[in-house]
Amino acid sequence: MSEGVGAAAFSRRRQHELWMRRALAVAASGGADDVPVGAVVYGPDGVELAVGSNERELTGDPTAHAEILALRRAAAVLGEWRLDGCTLVVTLEPCTMCAGALVLARVSTVVFGAWEPKTGAVGSLWDVVRDRRLNHRPEVYAGVLEAECAELMRSFFRP
Ligand SMILES: [Zn+2]
Repeated sequence: MSEGVGAAAFSRRRQHELWMRRALAVAASGGADDVPVGAVVYGPDGVELAVGSNERELTGDPTAHAEILALRRAAAVLGEWRLDGCTLVVTLEPCTMCAGALVLARVSTVVFGAWEPKTGAVGSLWDVVRDRRLNHRPEVYAGVLEAECAELMRSFFRP
């Protein structure tokens, strides 16, 4: 039994890493002036529904974070706002806006790469997604390919 659980955890980890590689590629494809953050939404069956990269500078929209764009597009693909059973994979710990949005979208699982101690709302500064006062609390997997995700941010901010 414990062996089976270990194997399941191992294959889940591998799945999350594969998905994070996709999110890293999406992050790198964003606007040149935008902080490189990439997000991908996977359906309950593991099929990719939508991607988003940070486009705040590109579009001048303060809400154009990678997660928001990916959630909107995934909902458009599914034809409804409820993203039950879906997984949001993002290279950086979501901010309060994005954490709030993924709770409202009923996303089941959140996988993120690098921690964001200055603005993170999935455990760093706040923990919006696991607030016990909310009736929907997604499962969280943090620090997936953390080194690569953190390096992507560092290389952007390096002068
Ligand atoms: Zn955000």
